[in-house]
Amino acid sequence: MPPPQPALATACVHAGENNDPHGSPHTPIYTTTTFKFPSTAAILDVVEGRKAGALYTRYGLNPTIQALEEKLAAIEGAEAALAFYSGMAAESALFLTHGRKGIVCLGDAYGGTLELITSQLPLLGIPSQLLLSDELDRLPEILKQGAGLVFFETPTNPALELFDIAAINEIAHAHGALVAVDNTFASPVNQNPLALGADFVVHSATKYLGGHSDLTAGALMGNKELIMSVWNWRKNLGQTIAPEIAAQLARSLRSLPVRVERQNTTAMKIALAMRGHPLVARVLYPGLPDFPGFDLAKRQMKGFGGMLTIEVKGGGEAASRAADTLKLFALGPSLGGVESLVTQPCTTTHHGLTPEERARRGISDAMLRLSVGLEDAGDLIADLDQALG
Ligand code: PLP
Repeated sequence: MPPPQPALATACVHAGENNDPHGSPHTPIYTTTTFKFPSTAAILDVVEGRKAGALYTRYGLNPTIQALEEKLAAIEGAEAALAFYSGMAAESALFLTHGRKGIVCLGDAYGGTLELITSQLPLLGIPSQLLLSDELDRLPEILKQGAGLVFFETPTNPALELFDIAAINEIAHAHGALVAVDNTFASPVNQNPLALGADFVVHSATKYLGGHSDLTAGALMGNKELIMSVWNWRKNLGQTIAPEIAAQLARSLRSLPVRVERQNTTAMKIALAMRGHPLVARVLYPGLPDFPGFDLAKRQMKGFGGMLTIEVKGGGEAASRAADTLKLFALGPSLGGVESLVTQPCTTTHHGLTPEERARRGISDAMLRLSVGLEDAGDLIADLDQALG
């Protein structure tokens, strides 16, 4: 019988941490580009895959990176994981390996992802199609034309729209396509797409996994065969994470559940406070029972996340004023860190879209997206109160 899978919190602390010959409780940083061998036969064992070992850091065959990848796989319940120097590196390696027959992107993905899929990959002859949530019924027809990879985020940015991971997997697999879910917004604490049948999970580890706004990294998880097929692309595109960043990310992952669970709780408190606020027109948060995706969120998420979006009464100017007046929430476009951040999507993440394109995605100028950090919930609500007032 295989040993029982450790629970997430245990995996975050212990997975990948048991190999140090000197007894360090965590894997040391091997700032090493190449590794010595006792014989050519021993090198061949690693080169030909008979033995797992260190060889050359750009290959990812470095103990610090391998330890991180063991932990990354464990936290998503995956057989294997690859660590990259950014979320976009993970996505581009995935698309170049498994998206060459065509990529269908569902909903409103991160701007860099959309630019890569719709403007840059087509230059290499990789076709792509974007389907917004009200066009999902076209998915089977598009897959019949041969697209090989369905990619989506759930929840999406900034409207926190949810996609039904299990239902989309079923449609895609029936047409021979693979499914990759960008799990950055939810984090593995709140959602496990692989357990719902997805083939890949991709993360901008720059966000919740790193969690402190101090590192840039990416991760790709899935079954061994699929992940190994991406390995060569990462190697030759030179996208492997550096050992120093790998160690920093592994350190952050040890506290991931504690951070995200607190962020979930605080985001819910803020959502409830903002829902009753006289200067807030709308609160978008998957944990509110009147949120359109609430039933799906309860079904496929274990927690509702630390991201929420409010729509300020008084339109875009009122929202800009509130964003400029916030003191604890820093004005900045990233997310998932210990410090709370606010962004007005029409001035940052969705600035490149026309007003019509934003409206089509349900994004208004009055929206403020909040990434809830680890500050006291009362202080954050008081900050929003003073800024809205
Ligand atoms: N996916 C999502 C949901 C993101 O928000 C981002 C960046 O903001 C990315 C991917 C890209 O990640 P990175 O900036 O680590 O390359």
